[in-house]
Amino acid sequence: MRHLASALALALLSATAAAQAPLDALTARISPDSLRGHLSFLSSDLLEGRGTPSRGQDLAAEYIAAQFRRAGLAPAGDDGYFQTANWQYAQRTETGFSFTVTAAGASIAVPFADATGEFVDPLALKATPAVFMDWKAALEDSSAATGKVLVVKAAPVPGAARVLQQKLKTRPALVVMIDRERRHVRGSGGWLIDPENAAPAGAVPVLVLHAADAAAALEKGGASVAAQAGPAQLRPVKLRNVIGVLRGADPALEDTYVMLSAHYDHVGIRDGEIYNGANDDGSGTVSVIEVASALAAQKERPRRSIVFMALFGEELGLLGSRYYARHPVFPLKDTVAHLNLEQVGRTDDSEGARVNAATMTGFDYSTVGEAVRKASERTGVRLWKHPKFSDQFFARSDNQALADAGVPAHTLAVAFGFPDYHGKDDTWDKIDYDNMARINRMVAVALRDIANDPVKPSWTTVPAAAGYSAAARKLEAVR
Ligand SMILES: [Zn+2]
Repeated sequence: MRHLASALALALLSATAAAQAPLDALTARISPDSLRGHLSFLSSDLLEGRGTPSRGQDLAAEYIAAQFRRAGLAPAGDDGYFQTANWQYAQRTETGFSFTVTAAGASIAVPFADATGEFVDPLALKATPAVFMDWKAALEDSSAATGKVLVVKAAPVPGAARVLQQKLKTRPALVVMIDRERRHVRGSGGWLIDPENAAPAGAVPVLVLHAADAAAALEKGGASVAAQAGPAQLRPVKLRNVIGVLRGADPALEDTYVMLSAHYDHVGIRDGEIYNGANDDGSGTVSVIEVASALAAQKERPRRSIVFMALFGEELGLLGSRYYARHPVFPLKDTVAHLNLEQVGRTDDSEGARVNAATMTGFDYSTVGEAVRKASERTGVRLWKHPKFSDQFFARSDNQALADAGVPAHTLAVAFGFPDYHGKDDTWDKIDYDNMARINRMVAVALRDIANDPVKPSWTTVPAAAGYSAAARKLEAVR
């Protein structure tokens, strides 16, 4: 029995050798139970899917701030740990709304729920000819639709309506964006207005159309549109990034910063269903909390300061990170690296199981990858470059906002795709907490290494990084 037991133990040991990298004072502070505890709250039904903006999201922000407080991070917002964006929320009621497409003698009345209007002023449009154009062609030359209804397919870019309002060279009476997949639908039926990036006064109204029959008639050509809508109601909303800092100990480096972030928002409630967003991106959020707690508990502080941040509005187009990049709490020129966490909890990647492995976007765009790779080796995680997605997904999360500003910034994930992605069943019971703890350990070690290295990370010479490299040189020039 003894022999058998030790042979078995050996076999097990070799099978899981990677997973059993010895723990040290830092990595031992990270536990699967702690992660499970945090995530079971943040992705509970009570928080109603943490939509931007919502009471559930406010509750999440308060919880994250409480955990930063518990860890002993210094608050770095304008209101304790909160960096507040004072925006407006616009909503329109069904009263007085009508939208009718007429083609070949037949009229299609579009119900209120099938037309999302992102314009504030009232609208009164008598039957007006519609002109269907390709999105790109319309941006180049929309003169054929001057004074008419310009119909385009909704471009898969955040803030597509705003892009049209700013870039159209001629003035249609109305723009209709076709969105059959309802990608541009907000759970609560309203939309956010960022006062720093609002539609200019008198901007062309943009209406997002979801009804397939009306869309088909408009695409065919020869249709006309009549529309009525009352003014939108506006109310102020406070959106919050949650920011805490662990001050560095080295007088020469403490005013330089390494940043760890995740977005704590998700998509809220849709058609009465709560979208809990446990993996996306509750998992990243609780990892920020856990890694912050572990690093803050160490006797020896890092040489550089480490900034921990939970961001709002990623799902609506990187709103929180873009806001931070416009209003950086810590100078961007002194921010040496940014690591953003996404979907680090589920191991059932749509492409197959991903245990003990992590991948990074823009894998070889900067030397941050090298630092994370070293940490991965020491913590028994395999860091790998996804042949397609590592590049494709670079622009798909909050690292992009910092990268655009020149900061070497990447998103680290376990799985880019997973079965319940943006579904109502992305729940906390499906997370692999042991694996997530190992990923957290790697992240904690990588952050500490970058914070302690007097040589700061830099963009590499790969062609895809050229623009970011140029932005970094601009930052340097500000110095
Ligand atoms: Zn996400």
